[in-house]
Amino acid sequence: MIERSQATRREWTRLAAGVFVLAIGCSSEAVAPDGDGAGDASADAGGPTAVVFGDRVARRQFPALQAGATGVTAPIAFALPAETLSVTVVTEAADGRLAVARWRDGGGQNLVDEHWLSGPLAPWLCTQGCVFRQQSRPFEQALLAPNAPRPATLAGVHELRALHQAHDQGKWLPASGQVRVELVAVRGPALAAGRLPVNLCLTGALGWNAKNAPVLPRLQQAIADATQILAQVGIQLSVAVHDVAGAAPLVEHSSEDNELRDLFATGAQLPLGVNVFLVEQVYVATGGVQSPIAGISGGIPGPPLRMGTAGAGIAVSLALGPGEDDRLGLAIAHELGHFLGLYHTSEAQIGADPALHDDLGDTPGDGEDNLMYWAPQAGATKLSAEQGQILRSSAWLQPIGQ
Ligand SMILES: [Zn+2]
Repeated sequence: MIERSQATRREWTRLAAGVFVLAIGCSSEAVAPDGDGAGDASADAGGPTAVVFGDRVARRQFPALQAGATGVTAPIAFALPAETLSVTVVTEAADGRLAVARWRDGGGQNLVDEHWLSGPLAPWLCTQGCVFRQQSRPFEQALLAPNAPRPATLAGVHELRALHQAHDQGKWLPASGQVRVELVAVRGPALAAGRLPVNLCLTGALGWNAKNAPVLPRLQQAIADATQILAQVGIQLSVAVHDVAGAAPLVEHSSEDNELRDLFATGAQLPLGVNVFLVEQVYVATGGVQSPIAGISGGIPGPPLRMGTAGAGIAVSLALGPGEDDRLGLAIAHELGHFLGLYHTSEAQIGADPALHDDLGDTPGDGEDNLMYWAPQAGATKLSAEQGQILRSSAWLQPIGQ
């Protein structure tokens, strides 16, 4: 997510502080794993589920798991082959908020230790207890590994438990419920370059539609800008413009994200690609105050190769505030960065706490000139080599030249 203008930075900092306060309020809830009998025994009966590549990407869906009162499911076990480059775990439920509670990799290391749930930013963001950062999400969550130059053993047998939480009187608390889990694994070698299919979804905002799109200078400039930004790390955007029906002009980004889910559902029938919805305005509301934001991704990363699901998309605002620079192309590129797995180089500093930085080795300092700075201004278009590696490890990337 990025805020809209320098003028709203102070306001957004205040909002972000509110989120952190809420997170601290929820973090006192201790969560322990369920007993082995709590889940669907068929999920891990007969040993680990083997993931086999027939192509660059392998997908594996597991039988639904039941979370008990602690919110933690019984484990699934799966085996990844030696050629695995990256793997994304997608958890999904009809309601509630999802994350990975625990994940032991092929070398026996805990990529996610369940103690993260008593950490400072739980249950929103795992920065302590997770080798690779994860962000919990309503309805559908994805966690990408690796997502930083830290050691992980992808080859071998993994064990994973999901976390399900429900909204109760203003808090997200562990709750029983059914959770579905899918693995999306990508086979190496790493791509030097790849094509990213993107559907620009026109919702009727500003009168833009697929017919007049070719003669809309602002839209065409935005496509050119986003294309140029991502080309620096070997990503070739393949943009198709579509009209979608039934999208609301104003979309609230909240902890429940019902409106984002409804928006993304309008793109379910489009050709396979990352759906980027251009709406009049995306906003966050705190204490009755609506604050516009430039855009929001359905996850970090978004769910790979899914269309129309709760996290399957990006929403970007078209409305501009008085005197605001037009950064539409930059906003699209920034949210695509999130959707493929990038966190902010640096988050907003809250109070006396130091700013939270990403886990990459080549995005030093605050990275204000980086595309993934939390409040990128016009001209903040830089992407580092390590950011490029993460982006190109996504299952969304199609090899060029094949
Ligand atoms: Zn952002």
